[in-house]
Amino acid sequence: MHVRPWQEYKRLRNVAVLWIAAFATLPLFIAYISTQIVGSVVPGFVLALITMAGAVFSVWQLITWPCPRCGEVFGVPLWSRCRHCGLLKGQAPDLCLAKTPSGRFLNG
Ligand SMILES: [Zn+2]
Repeated sequence: MHVRPWQEYKRLRNVAVLWIAAFATLPLFIAYISTQIVGSVVPGFVLALITMAGAVFSVWQLITWPCPRCGEVFGVPLWSRCRHCGLLKGQAPDLCLAKTPSGRFLNG
């Protein structure tokens, strides 16, 4: 039952990676091709704007993804746990985590 939110998280992460890869490669390639064919880099420039917008939007979706347990923003994709409730990536949202008085998580 806890798999679906993490599948959604992985899907968003993969989409963001694809947009970033597209932004890093396709505009230069298309600009080179269009220079050869029509003598203009405008198609590459337009594609750069489109892929940049896609990359920004998909990364924004990923970094504002709500934690399946507490509903707050999960946090930076490099972090392995929610910065609000400590839920680990891939962990069942209903699993209870105990915190020590100093704020550290007992299972981490
Ligand atoms: Zn959380």
